[in-house]
Amino acid sequence: FPIIRAQTSPDFVPDAKFYKVEAILRPWRIQQVSSALLKMGIRGVTVSDVRGFGAQGGLTERQAGSEFSEDTFVAKVKMEIVVSKDQVEGVIAKIMEEARTGEIGDGKIFLTPISDVIRVRTGERGEEAERMMGGHADMSSALSTS
Ligand code: ATP
Ligand code: GLN
Repeated sequence: FPIIRAQTSPDFVPDAKFYKVEAILRPWRIQQVSSALLKMGIRGVTVSDVRGFGAQGGLTERQAGSEFSEDTFVAKVKMEIVVSKDQVEGVIAKIMEEARTGEIGDGKIFLTPISDVIRVRTGERGEEAERMMGGHADMSSALSTS
C-alpha cells in the first residue's frame, strides 16, 4: 500500500473503486497480451486501431517483413481495460510481461480513475456492473474456497 502510485505528486492519490488501464501497444503483440489477460480472468477488454507518434517517431513498425505504417504516424493498438482497484497492478504487470520487447516503440500505459460502471442490459451499477461472470474475482474466490 498504496497500490496506486501513478501520480507525480506524492501526496495526491486519486482514489476510486475502478480504474481504466489504457495501453498503447505494438499491433503484433496484441494477441499475446489479450490471451494472457483472458487466462487470468480479465474478460472485458476494448481494443481500437490507433496511430501515434512517440519516441519511435515515424519509424515504421516491422515484424516478419510486414509494414504497419506508411506515414509519420505508427500504427498501434489501444487496449482499454476497466478493472477493480485490487486488479490494477496485476493487469499492468501482465501487459508489461507480454508486450515488452525492450526496443523503442513498446508503448505506454495510462491509468485513470473511473467513477462508475453501468451494465446496459441489467441497469446494474458499480461493483455489480464491473464484476464479470467467471472473471478474475470469481477465479480468486474459487481458489480460496477450495
Ligand atoms: P452482459 O452481461 O450484458 O453481456 P458484459 O459486462 O459482459 O455485459 P458486454 O455487454 O459483453 O459486457 O460488453 C460489451 C463491450 O464492452 C465489450 O465488447 C467490450 O468492448 C466492452 N467492455 C466490457 N467490459 C469491459 C471492461 N471491463 N473494460 C473494457 N471494456 C469492456
Ligand atoms: N474485475 C472483473 C472481475 O473480476 C473483471 C474486469 C475485466 O475483465 N476487465 O470479474
